Amino acid sequence: MDLDYGPQYDAFRAEIRAFINAHRHLAPPSATRFSRPSAEAIRWQKLLIEHGYTARTIPAEYGGYGAAPDILKSRIIAEEFSRARLPSGLANQGISMLVPTLLELGTDEQKRRWIAATLTGEVVWCQGYSEPGAGSDLANLKTSARIENGEFVINGQKIWTSTAKQADMIFCLVRTDSRPRSIAVSLI
Ligand SMILES: Cc1cc2nc3c(=O)[nH]c(=O)nc-3n(C[C@H](O)[C@H](O)[C@H](O)COP(=O)(O)OP(=O)(O)OC[C@H]3O[C@@H](n4cnc5c(N)ncnc54)[C@H](O)[C@@H]3O)c2cc1C
Repeated sequence: MDLDYGPQYDAFRAEIRAFINAHRHLAPPSATRFSRPSAEAIRWQKLLIEHGYTARTIPAEYGGYGAAPDILKSRIIAEEFSRARLPSGLANQGISMLVPTLLELGTDEQKRRWIAATLTGEVVWCQGYSEPGAGSDLANLKTSARIENGEFVINGQKIWTSTAKQADMIFCLVRTDSRPRSIAVSLI
């Protein structure tokens, strides 16, 4: 079995090393957990997106790099940034949870309005899933939403909301119908 990456991937690794050597002075210090990204971290994030080292497979029209998925390239990026001890992009609930949901289920307007700003760290989200009585068992959640004059009116309580103090927005699970299997994701 040949476990070599092969010339195409060796060239990709060399390209990342060259990028790191040329730009490492721009990297922000490690972020404190639960803090908003600094201006420096946002600049670094934009640079990484521009070169395809983060948000790599998110379509370019929504603010990503637009590459085809390639697990080896993803691993090589992770390896090289880790080897250089540099941040390899922002990681937060908006990026890891909301962006994939919007890509799958959002309207084009929602994708254009929220994905790019979330990827760059300019809009920070918190996650509103847990409630008193609905932690692991999310099917038990009670928070309801009904549409009134084109807007969701939400009633209920959310708990354990990490980064709520720093966030601009919350994405939450709410019940739009009392029948089972009618949970919606709402952006407020
Ligand atoms: C640091 C931290 C940050 C968090 N941030 C967020 C956030 O940003 N947004 C958000 O929505 N939530 C957040 N949570 C909530 C988290 O995701 C869990 O949903 C929550 O901690 C679990 O709910 P609970 O505490 O009510 O425990 P329960 O769900 O009541 O569970 C209590 C115990 O019962 C066990 N248990 C549960 N169900 C079963 C089962 N069916 N069978 C056997 N055992 C079971 C569990 O393993 C656990 O030991 C956060 C939690 C923590 C600790």
